[in-house]
Amino acid sequence: MSDTAARIADFIEPLRVAPGSKVRLGRDFDPRYRAGLKKREGVELLRTGVALLAEYQERLAAQDTYGVLLCLQALDAGGKDGTIRHVMSGVNPQGVKVSSFKVPSTEELDHDYLWRYARRLPSRGEIAIFNRSHYEEVLVVRVHPENLVRQKLPERARGKDVWERRYREINDWERYLTDNGFKVVKVFLNLSKEEQRVRFLKRIDLPEKNWKFSAADVRERRHWDAYQRAFSEMLSATSTPWAPWYVVPADRKWFARICTAAILAHTLMDIDPRYPEVSEEARNDLLAARQELEEEAPSGAAADPYAARTAEAKDEHGAGHGRPARKKHGRG
Ligand code: ATP
Ligand code: MG
Repeated sequence: MSDTAARIADFIEPLRVAPGSKVRLGRDFDPRYRAGLKKREGVELLRTGVALLAEYQERLAAQDTYGVLLCLQALDAGGKDGTIRHVMSGVNPQGVKVSSFKVPSTEELDHDYLWRYARRLPSRGEIAIFNRSHYEEVLVVRVHPENLVRQKLPERARGKDVWERRYREINDWERYLTDNGFKVVKVFLNLSKEEQRVRFLKRIDLPEKNWKFSAADVRERRHWDAYQRAFSEMLSATSTPWAPWYVVPADRKWFARICTAAILAHTLMDIDPRYPEVSEEARNDLLAARQELEEEAPSGAAADPYAARTAEAKDEHGAGHGRPARKKHGRG
């Protein structure tokens, strides 16, 4: 493992939910934890993280073997949108697919509950982000059981054991994905009740934030304790060796963003995607193509202008010890 990889692994370790452990959110995870970092240091770290993600995403796409699914869960005002915006700010948009899951449509309710999520999975070489995810099926659906009624399940599938069964089904599904080259990683942005209150008030006080606020958010807040319980149980039951949960402290947005970037970077470094190696045959094709293109050079042009330019640049900056480089815009 490289130094960077080891440092990232150490940094995120306290956030990982150990498979099989029993989580109680309020007791086990502090929404204000910041690993002793100051905001200024954090901003610098995020910049490094974003650059790292860009590099790894390019390699992931080039290798075209693995895909990555990042699931983001949070209570309202937890900062999912801003986290996605900042963490993914450096990567090529063509390699990323973001899906937001809202109240299911009639068509979606006419299928099994994982159907709509399966349709938005990453392809090989791609990073998919779920803004809310299949975990809503054991969170909002559990806190508001009328959602379960709308799912039109046969009687046997909506008995008392429904949550235990869903945990198992979700774990199996994620294992199946992992076994087939799709890494699943899950982030819960853990916000305190007081910080949620402050963020809601900000959305009410600032006219340009009003659109982000809905009266339903305050209604959901009344179910805070039920959500904390549902999250705690879900984290305990579905953090697995193949698809771990990370509980990210979310009261400080800048810190939540570094953590999420680090978790995604860790996942990609674990895959360690490589640019594909060119086979002997493909190499010969390249050489033949080069020869053909060189023969097409108009009179006066270099056979391979790119190679000529690179050689010239090397000459200017590199090899010639003691020989002053030729400056185009030099002052001297
Ligand atoms: P924003 O930050 O814009 O508020 P959001 O993710 O909260 O983003 P909303 O449109 O406000 O988006 O809310 C989506 C709603 O859909 C949430 O209240 C969520 O609980 C609900 N929802 C998501 N999945 C399901 C589901 N499977 N069944 C029922 N409700 C769901
Ligand atoms: Mg909302």
